[in-house]
Amino acid sequence: MDPDKIIIGIDLGTTNSLAATVFDHGPEAIHTPNASPIIPSVLYRDDHVWVVGEQARRKRVEAPERTVFSVKRLMGRDAQELESDIPLLSYEVRAAQRGLVKVHIGEEAFTPQELSAEILREVKRNAEAALGFPIQRAVITVPAYFDDAQRQATRDAGRIAGLEVVRIINEPTAAAIAYGLDQGQKGTVAVYDLGGGTFDVSILQLTGQVFKVLATHGNTHLGGDDFDMAIAGELKRRLREAHPEADLTRPVVAPLLRKVAEAIKIELSRAPETPYSLDIPEIGLRHSDIFTVDTLNELIAPYVEETLQSCRQALAAAGKAVEEIDDVVMVGGSSRIPMVRTRVEALFGRRPNISINPDEVVAAGAGVQGHLLAGGRRDFVLLDVVPLSLGIETLGGTFSKLIIANTTIPAQATELFTTYVDNQTGVDLNVYQGEREFVADCRHLGRFKLKGVPPMPAGLPKVKVTFLVDANGILTVSAVEERSGQEARIEVIPSHGLTNEEIERIMDESVEHAVEDLNQRQIVEFRNTAEAVFRGIDTAWDTAEEILTPDHRVQIEAQVRVVKEAVQGSDPVALKSEMDKLGELTRPLADAIMSQGALTELKRFFQDHSQE
Ligand code: AMP
Repeated sequence: MDPDKIIIGIDLGTTNSLAATVFDHGPEAIHTPNASPIIPSVLYRDDHVWVVGEQARRKRVEAPERTVFSVKRLMGRDAQELESDIPLLSYEVRAAQRGLVKVHIGEEAFTPQELSAEILREVKRNAEAALGFPIQRAVITVPAYFDDAQRQATRDAGRIAGLEVVRIINEPTAAAIAYGLDQGQKGTVAVYDLGGGTFDVSILQLTGQVFKVLATHGNTHLGGDDFDMAIAGELKRRLREAHPEADLTRPVVAPLLRKVAEAIKIELSRAPETPYSLDIPEIGLRHSDIFTVDTLNELIAPYVEETLQSCRQALAAAGKAVEEIDDVVMVGGSSRIPMVRTRVEALFGRRPNISINPDEVVAAGAGVQGHLLAGGRRDFVLLDVVPLSLGIETLGGTFSKLIIANTTIPAQATELFTTYVDNQTGVDLNVYQGEREFVADCRHLGRFKLKGVPPMPAGLPKVKVTFLVDANGILTVSAVEERSGQEARIEVIPSHGLTNEEIERIMDESVEHAVEDLNQRQIVEFRNTAEAVFRGIDTAWDTAEEILTPDHRVQIEAQVRVVKEAVQGSDPVALKSEMDKLGELTRPLADAIMSQGALTELKRFFQDHSQE
């Protein structure tokens, strides 16, 4: 592995994100020993700094308005397009200039690109810690249905995070690459991706080195979260039946039910039934029972059926019969559910590929691409395609396509247009992306104004419009009036996304504040860990009274007070040293109760810091 050349693969997901690369033994997620490679795509704003990942995820219940999740849904979208999503988010999203939206937290506001950049920074930091050298370049994946604005937003997020995004590739394509399906000469692959909050199926066709996305179908609001909700509903029903007197409307109840529901669901992926218990002291309730896989299957059947219906629709749109599918690839945490696997197998009449961890398969494929790009093996690098046709608006609101969907990139196309009015000196060019006939049904990408056309009768000027899609799938449009020979000036007004200046500004600011941000972030992280450790000590105090001497307990209590004071300060080094002292003092306590499975925070703290 050459640190100067490495290009890692990053799966920037709605629920989780992770990085992968090719090690000597093959492609694998990048992580430090004992830590999970998976970083929840969740951000928590605390004291003007971000906490990203698992710590942030745990804040979701406690501080919903400061905890940002599902940023991916906001990328490259405007407020109108997000109309149905915004009410489902616990944080505030408002329309901003040029079709952007911003997430508002207190007095501050952030673009989705900046938020995604924070997630990418965390992924980068983790990967750097694991590999032991800095990382500059990455291949990032996006859903096959992402349009130009969404891809551009993803690339901008990478730039803000200090990464050179060498290539943006489709998630289903990455999954197929991870299984080596690009090594064949041709074939048709179905990629079934069922995650926490989204589902999509893509039909890919491999010809030579190119995977074409023939069709995609899905539901951006369907996934494991729905299964959790369905199970939680059943648990609530059982509680109501067994304890009619309990007040199940209390705010503690719903999050707990969901947590237990998810644990039940995951357990039932490997056992036909599982016991569970619900202990809610706040409403004086204790309940335990058994949950069977049959009940689970019954609850999730309508959702699974919907995914199969999507598969049928994708096949129809691709013009393929199930018999023509050569491979089926399973992606996403929820594809582990046995019933999902059997139903998908029954539909396609063949065993799906499940040998690679479904959480890591997309990142692994991106890692393979990055590895090949880094090695300069362009002959083995898969070519990507334009996902949706690109063109401009012509008379009567019709859509005139210049580059059609599935053209291999980089791609370039040129077409001549003219004026409709005598002596017209300016031409407005509206760029759209989509497959429909009228621009009203397509996605507006940007407006280009061609000025300085010499006055001529209508129909005489020859306006040459050029579309260029680079290797990242990013579009640039230019136009020139040919008859006058005079190059006309073009003003590019992106209707979505950030301008170069905005990106530069955000990057400058982050460099400017890098040191203070890092200090502040460490303080906030330590503060969160400290709170959790205090809770752990409280929980374990009974055990402490049994196994520790009174003197030892007094020392712990004193050190807790010292740490409580230190977290108010602004020196992360001093805080860490006080935390370490507390860790040393509570180590016998942690050891004693490790087997009881309690004090997870204390354990986590030791694991995180044992290698430092
Ligand atoms: P993803 O969005 O791909 O990260 O998938 C996350 C979803 O997968 C969440 O809803 C998890 O509860 C679910 N999940 C993870 N592991 C399992 C499992 N073993 N069985 C069922 N669902 C799972």
